[in-house]
Amino acid sequence: MKATGWSIHPSEHLEPNQISLEDGEANIARKDIINIFIDSSKTEHGVGAAFCVLINDIWAYQWSAKLNDNNTVFQAELTALHEAEIYASDLPNHNTSKIHVDNRASIMASSNSKSTNETARKIFKILLINPRITVSRVKAHAGNISNERADQLAKDATQYGRPYSLIKLPKPHIKGVLRNRMLEEWQTSWKNGDTGRKIYNIMPSVSLRATNWIRDDVIFFSQHGPFPAYLKRFHLSDSDFCSCGGIGTALHYATEYIYTVS
Ligand SMILES: [Zn+2]
Repeated sequence: MKATGWSIHPSEHLEPNQISLEDGEANIARKDIINIFIDSSKTEHGVGAAFCVLINDIWAYQWSAKLNDNNTVFQAELTALHEAEIYASDLPNHNTSKIHVDNRASIMASSNSKSTNETARKIFKILLINPRITVSRVKAHAGNISNERADQLAKDATQYGRPYSLIKLPKPHIKGVLRNRMLEEWQTSWKNGDTGRKIYNIMPSVSLRATNWIRDDVIFFSQHGPFPAYLKRFHLSDSDFCSCGGIGTALHYATEYIYTVS
């Protein structure tokens, strides 16, 4: 389910420049700031999220995880940002942390208090109560060594990361899974059922695509049409006899009835 409405009261807002789309690289040299680099990755091995923490030019901490193969890069990016914020918010509160993100979309979602993404809303709320945590943009693949370290951690996590299951699967994936399960169930009852067997013999596989049968085909094969046998069966007539004395089924008119057999 998508979140709706404001995640907080509209009168509450982030500090000016708490989230910045400007390149924050200029601040990395500042020793009084804890710099956190996040990144995510999707490879043939899976989906990974990671962050690493630079304090006084020393790599002080790192985190990574392997998401479900069906998670999107966007979800991984937001997961990394969320985990980085949780890490930063647990630090002693004299610390100022700057989280460097190379993905514009996740910064935009996280600064939007009306985002429908649950993780983005959590990110926003943590920023709101922790004004000493800031988020800024770093250019990807621009030779920033710290950003590349996070990138590599995320890549490694796609293969060897420890599983992370706190993030939900994307809706299109869930819809696909449900559709397939529904088709299987439908196929089983179509195969094992005892009605509509004539149609089953022609069309044994169920499908969500409509058949290309014309109206006459449908009437003939389903035998739901202007036939006495049908009208009797559905209590629309007292008799199922044809005028020739035989039983008035579709097949009777097609193969036996004197006026139509030709
Ligand atoms: Zn007849």
